[in-house]
Amino acid sequence: MYDFIIIGGGILGMSTAMQLIRAYPGRRMLLVEKEDGPARHQTGHNSGVIHAGVYYTPGSLKARFCLEGNRATKAFCESHDIAFDECGKLLVATNELEMQRMQALWERTEANGLERSWLNADELREREPNITGRGGIFVPSSGIVDYARIAAAMGGEFEAAGGEIRYSTAVSGIDERRGEVVVKTSQGEFSTRYLISCSGLMADRMVRMLGLDPGFTICPFRGEYYRLPAEHNRIVNHLIYPIPDPAMPFLGVHLTRMIDGSVTVGPNAVLAFKREGYRKTDVSVIDAATMLTNPGILKVLKANLRPGLVELKNSLFKQGYLEEVRKYCPSLTAQDLQPHPAGVRAQAVSKDGKLIDDFLFVNTKRTVNVCNAPSPAATSAIPIGAHIVAKVRTQVEA
Ligand SMILES: Cc1cc2nc3c(=O)[nH]c(=O)nc-3n(C[C@H](O)[C@H](O)[C@H](O)COP(=O)(O)OP(=O)(O)OC[C@H]3O[C@@H](n4cnc5c(N)ncnc54)[C@H](O)[C@@H]3O)c2cc1C
Repeated sequence: MYDFIIIGGGILGMSTAMQLIRAYPGRRMLLVEKEDGPARHQTGHNSGVIHAGVYYTPGSLKARFCLEGNRATKAFCESHDIAFDECGKLLVATNELEMQRMQALWERTEANGLERSWLNADELREREPNITGRGGIFVPSSGIVDYARIAAAMGGEFEAAGGEIRYSTAVSGIDERRGEVVVKTSQGEFSTRYLISCSGLMADRMVRMLGLDPGFTICPFRGEYYRLPAEHNRIVNHLIYPIPDPAMPFLGVHLTRMIDGSVTVGPNAVLAFKREGYRKTDVSVIDAATMLTNPGILKVLKANLRPGLVELKNSLFKQGYLEEVRKYCPSLTAQDLQPHPAGVRAQAVSKDGKLIDDFLFVNTKRTVNVCNAPSPAATSAIPIGAHIVAKVRTQVEA
């Protein structure tokens, strides 16, 4: 019998496993992951941004964990010899409406305790000669990293402390009993005193395996990117973001310097018909049927029909995508947008048709389940892991 089993070899599973074995040295622990290595899904298909915590509702878990996570991620990289770059982020306003929204964002960054500076058009041009705008907010603490490397290093630390990782081990059933939890997998059954699930795009299905109604469903949104040709690797000095519509803060493609030296454009947000499908043509009958028969998701789609169709159009026609980025980087051309792999976001949607904004956990007596952990969850992985360990501790000591 294990003391703890963790499901999921993404950054949240690895962070939790690493911190759990530090908290309970000598206990038997197992991490199971259905793929043949770590970080094969969201953790390995993202923008690689160490977020500062600009947008999040003050007092929310996202705001708190992002701020803590920004520092903790950099400290982890320093102690594990993982490259990161604190290159800073510029939010650029290109018209009067965005200037007004920028003012609101300025106040929010203050409430979230961030260091930042307000730039006028000249100061913006000075910092970024290839970017045009009427003004901007500069946030120095944003950075870039490869989250797959961090997840692998966390897994390495877990194993070095005696933890066991089994890849190619897919969980297909969970039975919580009075004194144990039995986890059924493609490699046999394992019994544990406590179970932690960090299963990303499959989060709702894990809760259902426990025999519970999760009250939400995961809606997958594909985030498609382009990469600029190598001659544009120095086109920007910072991460360049548009000022978002506060109603849809995750929309709006950004120019991202990647830790390998390249620059990507993206991601957009297109409804995906397969949870772990990365191509436009990927469809899963089960995933699509789950979405299209779910009243909460249908409500979200209806309420966001217009922006949803714009995202779809820009996904299908490069020119529309290009216009989005040319608003602030007018020198780019269609030839500059080269293929780059997409990612798929796990966004929880409530039964009553709301995109769940904050991080969400569902707990039972012997389990903790991460249910909504979209961006900035990679940045926040260390505080999220610490939060889970604290939750587990109250259960163990109860
Ligand atoms: C396009 C995109 C851009 C993003 N950009 C950023 C960013 O710049 N900065 C940031 O902080 N965040 C970003 N995010 C968010 C961030 O990547 C995720 O929040 C984070 O990676 C979530 O980690 P996770 O461990 O929960 O999920 P995942 O990395 O998806 O890991 C879940 C794991 O669970 C495994 N699993 C699922 N079901 C089972 C099963 N039945 N049995 C065994 N294993 C199972 C999966 O195989 C997977 O490996 C972005 C996300 C996307 C998609």
